[in-house]
Amino acid sequence: MSSSEGVVHVAFLPSAGMGHLNPFLRLAATFIRYGCKVTLITPKPTVSLAESNLISRFCSSFPHQVTQLDLNLVSVDPTTVDTIDPFFLQFETIRRSLHLLPPILSLLSTPLSAFIYDITLITPLLSVIEKLSCPSYLYFTSSARMFSFFARVSVLSASNPGQTPSSFIGDDGVKIPGFTSPIPRSSVPPAILQASSNLFQRIMLEDSANVTKLNNGVFINSFEELEGEALAALNGGKVLEGLPPVYGVGPLMACEYEKGDEEGQKGCMSSIVKWLDEQSKGSVVYVSLGNRTETRREQIKDMALGLIECGYGFLWVVKLKRVDKEDEEGLEEVLGCELSSKVKEKGVVVKEFVDQVEILGHPSVGGFLSHGGWNSVTETVWKGVPCLSWPQHSDQKMSAEVIRMSGMGIWPEEWGWGTQDVVKGDEIAKRIKEMMSNESLRVKAGELKEAALKAAGVGGSCEVTIKRQIEEWKRNA
Ligand code: UDP
Ligand code: UDP
Repeated sequence: MSSSEGVVHVAFLPSAGMGHLNPFLRLAATFIRYGCKVTLITPKPTVSLAESNLISRFCSSFPHQVTQLDLNLVSVDPTTVDTIDPFFLQFETIRRSLHLLPPILSLLSTPLSAFIYDITLITPLLSVIEKLSCPSYLYFTSSARMFSFFARVSVLSASNPGQTPSSFIGDDGVKIPGFTSPIPRSSVPPAILQASSNLFQRIMLEDSANVTKLNNGVFINSFEELEGEALAALNGGKVLEGLPPVYGVGPLMACEYEKGDEEGQKGCMSSIVKWLDEQSKGSVVYVSLGNRTETRREQIKDMALGLIECGYGFLWVVKLKRVDKEDEEGLEEVLGCELSSKVKEKGVVVKEFVDQVEILGHPSVGGFLSHGGWNSVTETVWKGVPCLSWPQHSDQKMSAEVIRMSGMGIWPEEWGWGTQDVVKGDEIAKRIKEMMSNESLRVKAGELKEAALKAAGVGGSCEVTIKRQIEEWKRNA
């Protein structure tokens, strides 16, 4: 059936990393829930195993609704790209492969109703989008706050020609019309402020200047009660003139297909759940710095000491390498035997990819020590778990600001970025105790969970927006 016969067909083009893929698939699954057909364009090969596993599970869960289209990436000599991060290198590789997209899209047997693409791909996609006969939408995989910053950077950059962000973003931070307070300079992603040009900075400046072009709307995994001020400023034309509508469709729910069926992951999760079942309600701290952030070697021992000292049970997901396929070393080798056995007396430590949403939803989990990747933020909100933010890099201080403003978490700003000074074990223990014992965080987290359920439920803001969008595409087919 074609879109003119009433079926809406939406193509999704995500970028690299679970932090991008996960929310893309959740948005795609939401459209499927409302009767749409989906084409998932998958840049291949993926960087991590977690991504390729998730793509397979997603596609096999929706055999009749999803068509997978491989975008076989061109090879890029890593020494020609100014980044050492394999995920950023992949952003660039996808950008350089987008000329391969039109021939692939021409193979589709049903016309597209809409094309939804990742934030990291704007500029090189413009010439592709221009030739599409359907509207296109940006999916911004971080917060509305970060999107406001991203959009505002174009104004600052245009009014300071030839200057680098480190000179046009002053000590008073970035003032955003419609925001009660500016975004402090210290919260700006470090790569943006780096004196020497780098990939993240270059892509961001280039794309931000093009954000209003050929763009019919922006989807964000956020909602009114979490980020009302930023969403209003964006939609009120305050942040940037000419921005299309910004749709807060969050919090997007985790889906059944996300549950790992690989033997290793299944086994790991069942022993985690068994252990959690034995702990008392709200007594466990869940610790994870995301899927693509390795805990620095210098930090790991103090992290272990902090967890041992905090007095709570803990579930600690450790990553020793940025890319999961390369993570081969045992934790014992890093911690040493003695510390390692002390850690295991008090809690559970794993290196596997876990089902984070299931963990956050377990009644024994009472707090989340998180780096603040935006997906982790929306998941902790969804499950109503108080948060201790420890931003490691990129947009994570802005996430920490959102969490702090929401009242459901704390952020010890003096810890700095995870790449700066080592935070001592006793300090980590002190802050965990503060999070776990603070009743007002718990109350606020519970309220936000209620608001999240409402936003994502029947008749909620997500459903209203998605349905309206689908109707509009049908009308214009
Ligand atoms: N995630 C998970 N298990 C892990 C690590 C990560 O399920 O062991 C998921 C997490 O729930 C989230 C995503 O991977 O949906 C990570 O995205 P986020 O934006 O939180 O952080 P990133 O990993 O991109 O820094
Ligand atoms: N980002 C952006 N432009 C880019 C790369 C990143 O605006 O070219 C923003 C975007 O909001 C993204 C965030 O920075 O979600 C963090 O990027 P990264 O991929 O490092 O984070 P991850 O979600 O993988 O932890």
